Amino acid sequence: MELSPETIAAANGVAEDKAYGAVVPPLYLSSTYEFTGFDAHRGYDYSRATNPTRDQLSDTINRLEGGAGAIITSSGMAAIDLVLTILKPDDLLIAPHDCYGGTLRLLSARAAQGHFRLALVDQTREETVVAALEERPALVLLETPSNPLMRITDIEMVSARARAVGAKIVVDNTFLSPALQRPISLGAHMVVHSTTKYLNGHSDVVGGAVVAADADMVEHLKAWANMTGVTGAPFDAFLTLRGIRTLFPRIEYQQRNAAAVAEYLSAHKMVDAVHYPGLPSHPGHAIAARQQRGFGAMLSFEIAGGPESVRKFVEHVQVFTLAESLGGVESLVAHPATMTHASLSPNALRAAGIGHNLLRLSVGLENQSDLISDLEEALASARI
Ligand code: PLP
Repeated sequence: MELSPETIAAANGVAEDKAYGAVVPPLYLSSTYEFTGFDAHRGYDYSRATNPTRDQLSDTINRLEGGAGAIITSSGMAAIDLVLTILKPDDLLIAPHDCYGGTLRLLSARAAQGHFRLALVDQTREETVVAALEERPALVLLETPSNPLMRITDIEMVSARARAVGAKIVVDNTFLSPALQRPISLGAHMVVHSTTKYLNGHSDVVGGAVVAADADMVEHLKAWANMTGVTGAPFDAFLTLRGIRTLFPRIEYQQRNAAAVAEYLSAHKMVDAVHYPGLPSHPGHAIAARQQRGFGAMLSFEIAGGPESVRKFVEHVQVFTLAESLGGVESLVAHPATMTHASLSPNALRAAGIGHNLLRLSVGLENQSDLISDLEEALASARI
């Protein structure tokens, strides 16, 4: 029987415990496993390489993304770094000019050490993608929607064009999760996640995952994850799997709240611009409507007034919390220029279009009216 994604999220691995019939898959913390005899074990020998709890999570994420296998890592950054092991020093990596600041920092640092060559391009424009692909990259990294401007890249278009020149495509699917977007079905070779965000969903674990469409790639990534020891901890895997149980209802409710917040902000005179792919005015709206199952619960907006308005707004919010990260059940506000993207130089911030009046919202599960009242009061206080 072909199970739907909601059923996989809620019940993959449930009631399969052979030892005691536990309904919830047990947590195996043991770092080492008894051999059954000389040169013989039950499939597990040492937890850096394989662990039953981590495997439950990996199987669930892999099934949700439709891959050949998944590797669970200790963070989203570790997942991205694991993918970089496919590159050799002469290889070219093409990445978005406006990707998450930590990703940009990692890619730049590795490129500076000569691990590969790096080109940053605006992937939302087909002509810049075509020009970049003429350089014959080995790998193209996509992040869509992008952090924090919610720019949408056409995964199918870039994948088809990149495949034609022999490049591998990896998509950072952190902002939507497989509940709303499945990049492998659109042509990607790999998907990376910061499971810290929507997959865990409760802001109490830092973790990551790489899903690969091809079994050979899964073996390559597994081998490197074991060699470097970037595999995630079993307890983190247990919590993340628990978070995934409610992924679909959480994200559905959160994106309803986000759509209401985006509409509210769009009509406010203290707001110069709202970046939410669900708004028909968003430049990526049509592509998002085609390649996503929903518009997600992340948005950003530009507040009218200068730094003083930003300061007053973030100091005034009560339901929203001023904090990094996203995708949890609680609503957060971040100021990318000084927080998530603080590692970017002023020039890089400008190139990415991240101004000092930009604020990013991760919309949670709170009551919609409470969220909007909170924004209303904070915007009133920001008026100068
Ligand atoms: N990718 C995206 C899109 C992110 O937003 C983040 C973190 O904010 C990461 C990757 C890195 O994930 P982690 O913080 O789990 O290392």
